[in-house]
Amino acid sequence: TEPLVQVRDLKMHFPVSRGLLGRKTGAIKAVDGVSFDIMPRETLGMVGESGCGKSTTGRAVLRLYDITGGSIRINGTEIGQMSQSALRKHRPTMQMVFQDPQACLNPRMTLAGLIGEPLDEHTGWSRARKLERIYELMDAVGLNRNFANRYPHEFSGGQRQRIGIARALALNPSFIVCDEPIAALDVSIQAQVVNLLEELQEKLGLTYLFISHDLSMVRHIATRVAVMYLGKVVEIAPREALYADPLHPYTQALLSSVPDPDPETAQQVRRIILKGDVPSPANPPQGCNFCTRCPAVMPVCREIEPETREVAPGRFVACHLHDASVPTSIPTGGPTP
Ligand code: SF4
Ligand code: MG
Repeated sequence: TEPLVQVRDLKMHFPVSRGLLGRKTGAIKAVDGVSFDIMPRETLGMVGESGCGKSTTGRAVLRLYDITGGSIRINGTEIGQMSQSALRKHRPTMQMVFQDPQACLNPRMTLAGLIGEPLDEHTGWSRARKLERIYELMDAVGLNRNFANRYPHEFSGGQRQRIGIARALALNPSFIVCDEPIAALDVSIQAQVVNLLEELQEKLGLTYLFISHDLSMVRHIATRVAVMYLGKVVEIAPREALYADPLHPYTQALLSSVPDPDPETAQQVRRIILKGDVPSPANPPQGCNFCTRCPAVMPVCREIEPETREVAPGRFVACHLHDASVPTSIPTGGPTP
């Protein structure tokens, strides 16, 4: 089978001007050369600290931005450089569930109006046909049909996220980017919404990019996981492999902060505290992006950016420690240790 989503060397740089006269210009490299595939009906989890470029990646893949570079194929169609007007035809197939449903729901529209909005925009359906679809969607996400004429403020956070999911489903998409879909919800509601997303995936054959800083939730929902640091994917692996045996020093640090539910391995993991802050994406370090904080840093890391390599079937990592062709023991410059 072919991947449903294929992203290659995706770049999203935002121009900035520094200095009072704005003469010195640069770019915030929010997403800087990201590649991944997502297979049909699969969930690719995307994790990393806030500000690492996860959300920007999700939005860029859906072409909510005009991207700086790279290729995005969805369902066999290259959309990377497509104009926004040409994209309109492809919008129904790729949708987004946002972190804060409140912010995207017009407070003056009723539930039926909100769920019907994508249908108004993309179909010429009659009122009756639309209403039938709206009720069908309300059933699918577990919203009582009697709520059709209520307004967003009359709903709980969890119900509002169900409205957001119904809107995303309205046009029968095949691919959905879920950007921190449960982060704004009460813990007691989070599992319900995740279960709903899983149930809908199964029933409708959906493919997800599931962005979250919650590593336990990603462990639960994802088939494979991509780890981002400072605008780059540093590791991609099948879920079990990643959580049992993380290869990249950043992934190791990230996972060491999560309580391990398995008592057999729990004692073995020592918490790795990273020194320093994440560098600015406007001024990333030379060589490996992670070299300013990496507990395993070597001289070569400050000189040469590691390439992403497939070190075992399905396991991709960008780190000199996992590249046999790089002479890691020989200093490449600077003071001799
Ligand atoms: Fe650490 Fe070097 Fe690997 Fe980067 S390349 S993660 S600095 S060991
Ligand atoms: Mg975010």
